[in-house]
Amino acid sequence: MNQFHPEQAAAFARDEAHAHWHDTALWFVRVKRDRAAASVPEWERLRDTASALKAHTLSRLAEYLEEFERNARQNGITVHWARDGAEHNRIVSEILAQRGVTRLVKSKSMLTEECGLNPYLEARGVEVVDTDLGERIVQLAAEPPSHIVMPAIHRKKEEIGALFHDKLGTAQGLSDPKVLTEAARQHLRKKFLGAQAGLTGVNFAIAETGGIVVVTNEGNADMGTSLPPLHIASMGVEKVIPRARDLGIFLRLLARSATGQPVSSYTTHFHGPMAGGELHVVVVDNGRSDILAREAFRRSLSCIRCGACLNTCPVYRRSGGYSYSYLIPGPIGSVLGPQRDAAAHASLPFASSLCGSCSDVCPVKIDLHHEILVLREEIRAKDILPLGKRVGMKMTGFVLSRPALYRAAGRLVRWVLRGAPPLARLGPGGAWARQREFPVPPEKTFRELWKSSGEERKG
Ligand code: SF4
Repeated sequence: MNQFHPEQAAAFARDEAHAHWHDTALWFVRVKRDRAAASVPEWERLRDTASALKAHTLSRLAEYLEEFERNARQNGITVHWARDGAEHNRIVSEILAQRGVTRLVKSKSMLTEECGLNPYLEARGVEVVDTDLGERIVQLAAEPPSHIVMPAIHRKKEEIGALFHDKLGTAQGLSDPKVLTEAARQHLRKKFLGAQAGLTGVNFAIAETGGIVVVTNEGNADMGTSLPPLHIASMGVEKVIPRARDLGIFLRLLARSATGQPVSSYTTHFHGPMAGGELHVVVVDNGRSDILAREAFRRSLSCIRCGACLNTCPVYRRSGGYSYSYLIPGPIGSVLGPQRDAAAHASLPFASSLCGSCSDVCPVKIDLHHEILVLREEIRAKDILPLGKRVGMKMTGFVLSRPALYRAAGRLVRWVLRGAPPLARLGPGGAWARQREFPVPPEKTFRELWKSSGEERKG
């Protein structure tokens, strides 16, 4: 995807009713998160501890990864290392090919999306079935996820009913979530029973024990790894945590931040392969070491992918996941995307009001809005913004740095707003104004009020 965020956001916002529904649905999750966080008196202490734990782990990442590998091998787990997405895909494909696997079930993993695993395996004759309900919906619709926790949040239940009718042969016109979920269960059950291997992501890898932890609400990771004898787990290098006792801190934060639940429905610990089976963990770098080396952005590697920053972001809620050029949307995607490819994702750091709400809700206290601001400066310095934006910013900078010109511009805008508000909505500069009702401009500016009050004080 190489696209400019404002254009995609404008396309999304054109369907006002849908955009409003999307905004409301996500705000509902945000409010649930607030309630769940408020129910834990030590919430802020948990956030501080999680943030410090992540910072510590990242400062000794290589050591903890090696400790994890040593202990995992002792547990009978095969550990592979992949420099990038291509190597990850090759390793997974070879493991499957060597065992003659052509049917794979997969639980949610943004890392495999990042690596483009599904199309890679499908091109080699492997049927890959995403088993998380939201993931399966977007897979059937041939779309990428639009949210990292709720991949099909952009689709209404009526649309899902039509999709299931088309792809799964359910009755026409279904829209009851319970009926639709049951239809998906029946469909996925057959896939689970026929699978020869299961692939999962990794939420946490524990260095001390060499075990991995996978968190889901649907139990699909458990279904996909309990029946077939082969389990492959794809894990980013940043998923390692030092000790088993650290896990509880992250689990308490994760579920509450993601969906407002006190705890996720399934938290599964894998500390070795099942009897007679195999467990392979593929540890992937894919650009993470580069981020680690950049101090201003290192903290973004602490992300536990809870999605809270998306749910609270006024821009994400009103522009939808597909307006972002990077596969991870929202504030965290706006930090990660441009670091992967600054030119392709140049508009993302500008898809932010810099209100700081993302940083406020982040359970591991990533300074998201600050990192976004630093990225803006980097992108400006690289001169890779579209011409219109570059000219607009130059003109704004010119006016803001000349007080007399700024005052004259202020007078002009107030005159337009009083006399002919529609004029403010014209042209490309009016995009913001077209969505808003203007307040009546005050008779006097702050500067004029300050001046006259000073004269009164003197008098
Ligand atoms: S950046 Fe923070 S809030 Fe956003 S997904 Fe990651 S952990 Fe959650």
